[in-house]
Amino acid sequence: MVGMDADLPIRECPVSQHTLREPALLQSFGTEGRNWPGRKFDCPHCGVFIVDEIEHNHLVGYLNADKVPGVPMTSLQAKRQRAVMAHALRRMEASGKTPVLTDGMTLRILQEDRLPTLTEQRDNLLRWLGTVVEIGPAYTFGYDGVGARVGAASSGLSDCYWKA
Ligand SMILES: [Zn+2]
Repeated sequence: MVGMDADLPIRECPVSQHTLREPALLQSFGTEGRNWPGRKFDCPHCGVFIVDEIEHNHLVGYLNADKVPGVPMTSLQAKRQRAVMAHALRRMEASGKTPVLTDGMTLRILQEDRLPTLTEQRDNLLRWLGTVVEIGPAYTFGYDGVGARVGAASSGLSDCYWKA
């Protein structure tokens, strides 16, 4: 699958499965003499991030492990892994640089399995709201744009904020 599809643009986020703002094409990154193939993803949920092409194959493998016969992973666990990855990308983005996933990073992030507690999620949400609320009185948002920033594993969990 990997070799044959390598040149095709990817239209769906490999992390959250949202439709990308732009198809991700295979391109060259790095500095001259130290180039590596990768893709730049622009996802409405996870933000903009770059993935080394080999690491991308690993990422797709890990996040779809629940569909592999014989692998003991439930779809709920797979959903959590996607949330962990999406939140890790937003955390990296918050440091001011475009996140770049290279050799082994996906596995390290998944092993760390870090999602904020409900209290931390609320704090994240309030902090984020503080930065965007000035945009306009009619600004609307939902789980797709906010969930990964806040660190919520599902839309159900974050729905309680909007109703609170
Ligand atoms: Zn995404």
